[in-house]
Amino acid sequence: MPRLPHAFKEITRTSYAADHLTGLRVEGGRHEVVLSGICPRCRHPFQFVHPLSGFRGLRPARPGNTYTVQVACLCAVEHPDCPEDDEGCGAYWVLLLRRNA
Ligand SMILES: [Zn+2]
Ligand SMILES: [Zn+2]
Repeated sequence: MPRLPHAFKEITRTSYAADHLTGLRVEGGRHEVVLSGICPRCRHPFQFVHPLSGFRGLRPARPGNTYTVQVACLCAVEHPDCPEDDEGCGAYWVLLLRRNA
């Protein structure tokens, strides 16, 4: 019997960021970063696009800069109790990423 997906719930745990970073593919463009990974809560794969435009002007982009990204699960699987205007299972966490370029 297949396991039912988790019910939608806005939830975060300290372990989520490290879990998500495991096997995470980060593709950095000039204007956005695309994170391809597995949700640490529901284990469904999803892509998260983080625009970088807001960072420019705040501070010059230097190699080695770190920045934080709040990521939320955006998997395509329908979780029970998911609000109509929302996606994923509701899990969210904050990643600390290093900018290379
Ligand atoms: Zn999911
Ligand atoms: Zn999820």
